[in-house]
Amino acid sequence: MTQRSNALPALAALTSPLLTWNEGAPHSAAFDDVYFTRGDGRAETEHVFLGANHLPQRFAAWEAKRPFVIGETGFGTGLNMLCAWACFEQHAAPTARLHLISTEKFPLAREALEQALAAWPSLAAYARVLCDQWPAGVSGIHRLHLTERVTLDLHYGDTTERLTQLDGQVDAWFLDGFAPSKNPDMWQPELFNAMAARSRPGATFATFTCAGIVKRGLKAAGFDWKKVPGYGRKREMLAGSIETPPVDQRRQATPWFTPPPLVNVKHAAMHVAIVGAGLAGSSVAAALAKRGIKVTVIEREAPGAGGSGNRQGALYVKLAAETNHQSRVYLSGLLYSQRWLSQQRAAHVLWQPCGVVQLASSDKEARRQQRFIEQHPLPSDVVTGLSNPALSEAAAMPIDAPHGLIYPQAGWVRPKALCEHLLKQPGVTCLQGDVSSLTPLDTGWQLNLADGSTLKADQVVIANAHLANRFAQTAELPLQSVRGQISEIKLPDEVTGPTRVVCAGGYVAPALDGVLTFGASFLPNNATSDVTADDHQRNIEELRQTLPALVAELEQAGIALSPEQLQGRAAVRAASPDKTPYAGPVPVAEAWRADYSLLSKDATRVPVTPGAHYSGLWISAAHGSRGLASAPLCAEVIASRMCDEPMPLEAPLVDHLHPGRRIISAIIRAQ
Ligand code: SAM
Repeated sequence: MTQRSNALPALAALTSPLLTWNEGAPHSAAFDDVYFTRGDGRAETEHVFLGANHLPQRFAAWEAKRPFVIGETGFGTGLNMLCAWACFEQHAAPTARLHLISTEKFPLAREALEQALAAWPSLAAYARVLCDQWPAGVSGIHRLHLTERVTLDLHYGDTTERLTQLDGQVDAWFLDGFAPSKNPDMWQPELFNAMAARSRPGATFATFTCAGIVKRGLKAAGFDWKKVPGYGRKREMLAGSIETPPVDQRRQATPWFTPPPLVNVKHAAMHVAIVGAGLAGSSVAAALAKRGIKVTVIEREAPGAGGSGNRQGALYVKLAAETNHQSRVYLSGLLYSQRWLSQQRAAHVLWQPCGVVQLASSDKEARRQQRFIEQHPLPSDVVTGLSNPALSEAAAMPIDAPHGLIYPQAGWVRPKALCEHLLKQPGVTCLQGDVSSLTPLDTGWQLNLADGSTLKADQVVIANAHLANRFAQTAELPLQSVRGQISEIKLPDEVTGPTRVVCAGGYVAPALDGVLTFGASFLPNNATSDVTADDHQRNIEELRQTLPALVAELEQAGIALSPEQLQGRAAVRAASPDKTPYAGPVPVAEAWRADYSLLSKDATRVPVTPGAHYSGLWISAAHGSRGLASAPLCAEVIASRMCDEPMPLEAPLVDHLHPGRRIISAIIRAQ
């Protein structure tokens, strides 16, 4: 049985496989096996994986609120998954949803994927969607929204390792992944055990092979199997199910993070209220609306009135030199935001993936970046180290710092416009109001507004940044206010500025409509939001250090930077003590302290009691100044949990975001 492990497999750049082509069908040189059968591969997939799992019938009958979940070992060219998606479109009701999970250790290069899928003209429209979002070869989970109701999570890395980290349950398995004789390392007992542990009761499986090791492994893990007719010349294959999957043992080590019971409201009728219309709240609103949930967002001022209200903001992350859970969350968040932004209607207006250059403005920072590159062997389309003169070329501007990093697919966003866009999704209503307290009802919540009015909802998501702990239920959540001011100046015609976002202490964005934005100041424990000359001066000093050549160009054009010439905007952002956002269900702090008090005497004596949570109360907050990279993925974390779907992050990373993590560490620290 797989145990919960907090240790994640090493972060890695994955290598694309060496392929040979036989009349359009790819063949793996390393495994000496084919990805699909030339000519009738699609018919074979439909027989082996779709037919033996009874998908046409199950899709047609699917009425559950949650999506139907398919898990696959070995994504390869994606043929199986595209066929499942096409079958779903053909048979499922318009309100049904589909969630695909597939592992892959050697993802095809995008060109190879396109070439392989060109063999199936009838799937061309599906293939286009997949290829357009094809993620970088980085280990971890990559969530792709194929349509409003079809999601694909690509779990890059070794199948067994990945399924062990999966926080989610599967209805039907496609047991693929080259023949056991060609790929014996994969077809091990641990694989079948991991599948069993991630199965829903009654989950089915199908596989093309009848190898003894597969039959024995499945049986030992709890699956029943029978031989059924294979496709074409293959006489037999295996299909079966698991009626009683093993109890998930992972929670034994961390019972406090056990997800709260689902709030059982009919999906179409479910109404969720969200407090706060910044990026955290707006992205949760959009994530829930996409799932068919009615959403009301209550905002004290206006969408993006707080930290998300700038005209321009940088989508970037600063990852720790040594890989840790926080870095992994931010890296996943960055990659997710890039895909998610590109998919928004009017994406070209909302964001520019122009690239972000991060300067090493001191020797210490250069050494830190060097260690980071050594510890994070990531593909160059995600991040790579650069030295001058390449660094100056990358920024289209002379740069003094000798070294830096470039994230070529990051960029800048219009945060305020993005919030407004997200709140316009069908199913989302935005109200102005100041929610001052929350009263639990027999079912659901009453939101009490400062003007005396009230609103009822089945569930509530708190997403009002530094005010998120103003409620009795969240009062103990540690949050720090951080004041940040950006500065803006109209550039003269002869000065163009950088073509990429350039960051050092703060950031300088490429000019938007001739206006250069730079900043932001960073003043912890300060909740003021008036624009000050002091903060402008700080931003000017920072700009002088980051891009002295730009300041010189401005001076040549007759502009000596001073606070009086600058426009600006200040806002308060919220941060947690460990600088990781809070995303998840709200814990009942006093119950946790009572239930887990033993840990303060002996941290190894873990009680079995699951963590007590306020029913239907969630939070997305403490995104600091990196909300563009964290809020959209955190919105998926909350929406996925609320809707009983597989999670978009590995189990230890979901726990790392849990709003109760500080309570447990405080109890243990008291030891
Ligand atoms: N399902 C695929 C399709 O529809 O095109 C075909 C799968 S292909 C026969 C097998 C896939 O499993 C390959 O892409 C291979 O890289 C992958 N694979 C093999 N061993 C693996 C492992 N241990 N972990 C993850 N993926 C693995």
